[in-house]
Amino acid sequence: MIREMTRLADEHDAINLAQGFPDFPAPAAVKEAAARAIAEDHNQYSITWGVPEFRRAIAATYARDYDMTLDPDTEICITCGSTEAMMATFLGVLDPDDEVVVFEPFYENYGPDSILAGASLRYVPLRPPEWTFDPDELHAAVGPRTRAIVLNSPHNPTGKVFSREELAEIVALCVERDLLVFTDEIYEHLTYDGHEHLPIASMPGMRDRTVTISALSKSYSVTGWRVGWAIASPALIGGIRAVHDFLTVAAPTPLQVAGVAALGLGLDERVRAVAEYRERRALMMEILRAARLDAVQPQGAYYVMADISGLGLGDDIATADRLVREAGVATVPGSSFVSRAEDGRHLVRFAFCKRLETLELAGQRLSAFLA
Ligand code: PLP
Repeated sequence: MIREMTRLADEHDAINLAQGFPDFPAPAAVKEAAARAIAEDHNQYSITWGVPEFRRAIAATYARDYDMTLDPDTEICITCGSTEAMMATFLGVLDPDDEVVVFEPFYENYGPDSILAGASLRYVPLRPPEWTFDPDELHAAVGPRTRAIVLNSPHNPTGKVFSREELAEIVALCVERDLLVFTDEIYEHLTYDGHEHLPIASMPGMRDRTVTISALSKSYSVTGWRVGWAIASPALIGGIRAVHDFLTVAAPTPLQVAGVAALGLGLDERVRAVAEYRERRALMMEILRAARLDAVQPQGAYYVMADISGLGLGDDIATADRLVREAGVATVPGSSFVSRAEDGRHLVRFAFCKRLETLELAGQRLSAFLA
């Protein structure tokens, strides 16, 4: 649905607040590193699980940021984006008929991931305004066939950042019931207002039962590069590496080489990027308020779910359809992120990873349409 909304946005010349990709440039040093890597002939297959310098840079980054000690030779697999990392994890770690618990709303891809792996999903609701979960519902979702919990923090589509206490609840359950966690941390560097990202793999008891997934895509505004990674114990990464080998052989070599430069940008660049996202978030919230759309301010990532009940344009599909065709603003219907469509009928998702001018124009179009 997300990518279909992008297609419709292009068709109707609408501003694309549907798909989560920036309309501003990637950092110059990162682009130059990619051009240099191609000129220097890093143009052939890398070894399947990734360019060694890039894996070493990832290990150094996790040591610096999270005090996590990783062996770049035995615990990292570079993939084509976190999309492939999650798919390879489902295929490489699960057996058919296994069950996986996922919090909902959820990022769309986990459904197809489970279908392709022959696994099935069990859902635990996150409830607004804080998008919290009920620990009893989480416990009740775990059955005899449950192998793993999918975690995504900072969270798409709600912007929730799971707190240390919430993570501790999940850890306790995983240890008690011998479960794995597949954690999608692609928005790890985008948190606001003192909310901090804590990788669940760094918590006691979780190192060997976690597959940590992230990517260059969002942190460095290079969603088209298709470079991500999975981090797991040697026992788990073997299956992931094998699946990755047959899915894609390797991620793009020159862009992995440039990834070393991206990870080397340093903390100042990250602080600058977050400050800019904070401005975009403020403008997005102002636009939603002006349009009389109720929304909970996101704690992280770059999405916000807005309540469309007051607009009188119909359900989420009808509203998103009219917004893209008539207002010239593309969003994603809320039902794309939930297991039972009726739970998302009153919501649409806005992505605010756009220039301030783009967001301002989207705001003008929305108010003109709604007036
Ligand atoms: N995971 C989440 C939670 C996302 O929101 C997205 C993209 O929007 C992805 C994964 C896809 O990441 P990548 O481009 O690295 O495959």
